[in-house]
Amino acid sequence: MGETWKEYMGRMQDTYGHLPNFITNLPDPKPKEEAMTPPKDPRLTALEARREANAGQQVDNARLPAGANMYYYCETCGAHTATKPEGWWQDPPPRHCATCKDDISDGIITRTDTYDDWLEKNNKERYQRA
Ligand SMILES: [Zn+2]
Repeated sequence: MGETWKEYMGRMQDTYGHLPNFITNLPDPKPKEEAMTPPKDPRLTALEARREANAGQQVDNARLPAGANMYYYCETCGAHTATKPEGWWQDPPPRHCATCKDDISDGIITRTDTYDDWLEKNNKERYQRA
């Protein structure tokens, strides 16, 4: 004797009854919202540290007596790059320190991201206090 309709439905439920539940428990296909702040490039962190360290360290050439050496600084981080005699003209002092030069050529920072702007934005002194 064959199974009754009710028995048949019960068997199907036993066999496939888990399916809907399984389907509704699929992992959410949408990725979880994460804090989307990309990690800061360590070289930018290093640049920030250089700027902090160089703030207030520059010599104001305008305040030096006539004939004194001139001091030149990195346009990006403010690091001292050269000291030249006054009136020296043979070749221009480097515009950037070696580290910033690398960072610029690697695209980590841009030429328009200057120490001047950083000083202004952070309300920092450029020159040594007289
Ligand atoms: Zn620099």
